[in-house]
Amino acid sequence: MVLLDGKILSAKVKEEVKVEVSKLVEEKNIKPGLAVVLVGDDAASATYVNSKHKACEAVGIYSEVHTKPSSTTQEELLELIEKMNNNPKLDGILVQLPLPKHIDTTTVLEAINPLKDVDGFHPYNVGRMVSNLDTFLPATPFGIMRMFEENNIELEGKDVVVIGRSDIVGKPMASLLTNAGATVSVCHSKTKDLNSYTKKADIIVIAVGIPHLLKADMIKENAIVIDVGINRLDTGKLTGDVDFEDCKDKCSHITPVPGGVGPMTIAMLLKNTLKAAKLREKRK
Ligand code: NAP
Repeated sequence: MVLLDGKILSAKVKEEVKVEVSKLVEEKNIKPGLAVVLVGDDAASATYVNSKHKACEAVGIYSEVHTKPSSTTQEELLELIEKMNNNPKLDGILVQLPLPKHIDTTTVLEAINPLKDVDGFHPYNVGRMVSNLDTFLPATPFGIMRMFEENNIELEGKDVVVIGRSDIVGKPMASLLTNAGATVSVCHSKTKDLNSYTKKADIIVIAVGIPHLLKADMIKENAIVIDVGINRLDTGKLTGDVDFEDCKDKCSHITPVPGGVGPMTIAMLLKNTLKAAKLREKRK
C-alpha cells in the first residue's frame, strides 16, 4: 500500500511557488497579493484563514486578512469586495465560506472579479473548468489531481466514484476527472445503493463529512482511496470519512487524515494566487 502523503507533496508545491514568486518579484517587480475575508466567528474558519495567511507569508506572497463581525451586512461586504477588485496590489480575493445566513453566498462570489477568483468558485470560472479551459481550479480537487499526477496514477478509462456533490469538492472533482478521461459516478445522500458503486470503483474520492463512512467491505481489492473528509471526534482527534485502519491493507493507495488532502488545498491556493499575479498585466 502506498500512503499518499500530502505533507511532503504540499511542501514541494510550496517550494515551486516560492521560487516562482521570487522570480516574478525580481524580473517584473510583481509581488503576488491575496486578500482573505472572514465574516463571523466560526472557529474552524478562523483557523483555516490563519493557515492561509501564514502559508502566503512563507512563500513571499503578500496577504491581508479582513475579519468582519457576523453583523456585517451584504452591502458592506460587497463594498469591500469592490474595493479589493480595484486594488491593483491584490491578485486574489477569497471569501471564507460558510457566510452568515443573512448574506447570499452566490451574490458575494459573483461580485469577485473572475480574474481574482483564486478559489475558482465564480460561475465564470466554474464554466471554464467544466469546459476544460484554462482557469482557476478549486483548490481541493486541484490538489487531488496533483496527487494523482505525482504518483503516476492513470485516470483515463478508470471507474471513479466521487462521494459528495458539493460545489467546492464533489462537483468540481467529478468535472476534472471526466476531463481526464475517467468514467465518473457521483454519489450523494440520495444514492440508493452506495456499495454497488464503491465496490466496482478503481478510485474513490470521498467528501461527505461523516467519520469512517467508507469501510473495507465497500471497496474492491487494490482500490485507490482519497479521503477529503475532516471530522473532529468528541475526543478532539481529527479523522476522515474513511475507516483508515479497516481499509488500508485492501488499498493500493490511500490518503491519511490529517496529512493527506488537507495540506494540498492550501498549497494549491498559493499556486492559484501566483497564477493570478501573472495575469496582473492583463487586468489593467
Ligand atoms: P457538504 O457541502 O456538506 O457536502 C457533503 C456531501 O455529502 C453532500 O453532497 C451530501 O449529499 C453527501 N452525503 C451526505 N451524507 C451522505 C451519505 N450517507 N452517503 C453519501 N453521500 C452523503 O461538504 P463539503 O464541503 O464537500 O465537505 C465534505 C467534507 O470534506 C467535510 O468533512 C469537510 O470538512 C471536508 N473538506 C475538506 C477539505 C480539505 O481541504 N481536505 C476541503 C473542503 C472540505 P446531498 O448533496 O444529497 O446532501
